[in-house]
Formats: sequence, C-alpha cells, structure tokens
Amino acid sequence: MSELYFLDFRKKQKENYLNMLEKLIEAAGGLGILKQKTPVAVKTHFGEDGNLNFVSPLYIRRIVNLIKKYGAQPFLIDTTTLYSGRRFRGDSHLELAKEHGFDFAPVIIGDGIHGDEYFEIDGSKIAIAFKNIDTMFCISHFKGHLVTGFGAALKNIGMGCASKGGKLHLHSRSRPYVDKEKCIFCLKCYNYCAYGAIAKEKSHVIINPDKCSGCAGCMSVCPERAIKFYWSAASDEVQKGIAQYTAHIVRNKKIFYLNFLTNITPDCDCLHTSEPPICADIGILAGFDPVAIDQASYDMVKKEIDRLRPDIDSQVQLYYGEKFGAGERRYEIKNI
Ligand code: SF4
Ligand code: SF4
Repeated sequence: MSELYFLDFRKKQKENYLNMLEKLIEAAGGLGILKQKTPVAVKTHFGEDGNLNFVSPLYIRRIVNLIKKYGAQPFLIDTTTLYSGRRFRGDSHLELAKEHGFDFAPVIIGDGIHGDEYFEIDGSKIAIAFKNIDTMFCISHFKGHLVTGFGAALKNIGMGCASKGGKLHLHSRSRPYVDKEKCIFCLKCYNYCAYGAIAKEKSHVIINPDKCSGCAGCMSVCPERAIKFYWSAASDEVQKGIAQYTAHIVRNKKIFYLNFLTNITPDCDCLHTSEPPICADIGILAGFDPVAIDQASYDMVKKEIDRLRPDIDSQVQLYYGEKFGAGERRYEIKNI
C-alpha cells in the first residue's frame, strides 16, 4: 500500500499555503531523493496562452527554492504539444513559460524546438532531456480531460514527457497526413524529413505511411499547419498508452509527486481559455507513487468527474498503470 500525504484546503491551516506546502513536502520525505549539486527536473505544465488554471508559479517557485536550499540544481521542464498553439514549438513554448511567470529557474523544452528530439524505450518516444535525468519532482494539476476523463500525475508523465512523435503515437497510433487544400508546396517538410517519407505531387506533398516513423517533426516545420493527424484513438487506448509510457519513464528514476486539487476545471490546461471549476478546492496530495496519487485524487472528485464524462471510464489509466508496474492503486493518506 502506498503512503500519501495530504494538505487539506477545506480546513483552516496554521500557516499560509506556501509555508504549508513546504511542510507537506518535508512530511512526505520529498527532499530525501535529492543529491547535492545534482540536476533535478521539475516537470510541470506552463499553461496554454489564455489559460489561467495551471499550478501557480508561486507554488512552483517555492518548491524550486526548497530544492536549491538543499543544494541540488532544479530546472523546469515540459515538452512541445501536438495541437496548434504557443506550446507547439519549443521556442514559443519557452517564451510563454516566461510570460506566465516561470522565470525563476532554467526552463527546458525536453524534446527541442521541433519536438523531434527523443529516445526510445520499447517503442515509446520519450523527450531526450529525460534520458539522463534520474531525479524529478512531478507537479500536476488535477482536472477533467476530454479524452481521458481526468488528467494528473500519470498524464503529466506519460503524455507530458513524451516527444511530439510520442504524443502522436499515444493519440492516434497512426501517421500524419497532408491537408492538400492548405499545402502551399513550400517543401519545408520535404527537405526536413529524414526518412524520405514525403513525396511531391503536382502542387502539394503527400506522406507515405510505410516510410514515416511518426516523429511528427514535419508538423512543426510546416508554416501552414497543413500536416495533421486523426484524433481517432478511443479513450481506453490513449489511457493504456499513457500508462505504458509512464511505466517506461519512471523505471529507475526517483520521482516525487505533488497533485494540486485546486481550480479543478472540466478540461486540461492546454485550452486557450479558463473555465469555471467543477468543485471547490480540495488540497494537495504528495507521495512517490503516480498510480496511488492519481487514484486518491480521482476518489476525491469521482462524482464530479464521472458526471462530466459519463461515457469515459477514467480509471483505465489507473488499472494499466498498476498492471504495467508504474505503481499500485491501494493507498493510505496521512493528513499533515
Ligand atoms: S513524414 Fe513522418 S518521418 Fe517524416 S518528418 Fe513527418 S512524421 Fe517524421
Ligand atoms: S511544409 Fe506544409 S505547406 Fe510546405 S509543402 Fe509541407 S505540407 Fe505543404
């Protein structure tokens, strides 16, 4: 059974939330994974342009300062996205992170400018920056999600540490295609593709799925956003993939997890807007098991999440998370 620690926002606390967050991390033993003069990846989500629901940089700054005080060397990290937006490419993602207040530590976009820098574990395409990092703080915002029912630690790791091609793999298990109406035949993708998978037609290009590796780099270099993919995978398939990626990524790493059950919105922080929350703030959970912390988070908001998306069984990610060895679903909670 995994041990989790809980800071309950529904009760009056002795000190302000930032001080209590430090106490939560200390009580849960989060600092125990740190080594002096060693890099620590602080994996979070900087929020899409127009979104205000992501975990506040004030909390993350406090965590970063705590890690620094210990003598370790924290940096913030996220990856490029599949959907169009300012997080689609590494350079604009960095700029947005700064605008959203994440300017107090080095920021790295783990899969590079075009999202095509990755390594593979059993077919999972993982952002290259995670290859030689063995210590992480994973800071996740618990909220609803259109495809997976809810998203928190498993999604932050399994999807959030995947490269652009990894996300493509998770979302559709298919290959990209060219929308010929939008293609201006500039050949940027043709010159970019290292697999010779893009062929010229008369006035547009096409992708040969037999040669395509699914790296998704061509999607980034296309100035017209003419390269697309089918968001066709069903929820269960995406959740299973997220669990598989998570199990690959967490293996041999020391990771401390914090789930923020605050601003619990119907959809994820990739939206270009903010939405009203589906319930009042609950608090912060902490621990070392991504499956247990997500199970406990889900159990606290089960009614609202299930009502939001009655057709999705959002516990599929928890089932496979445990099955693939990322953690266990049984937990006990200690209040601080
Ligand atoms: S066509 Fe396929 S292999 Fe070539 S850049 Fe695009 S995703 Fe990568
Ligand atoms: S980069 Fe985009 S617009 Fe240019 S040829 Fe490729 S698909 Fe067409």
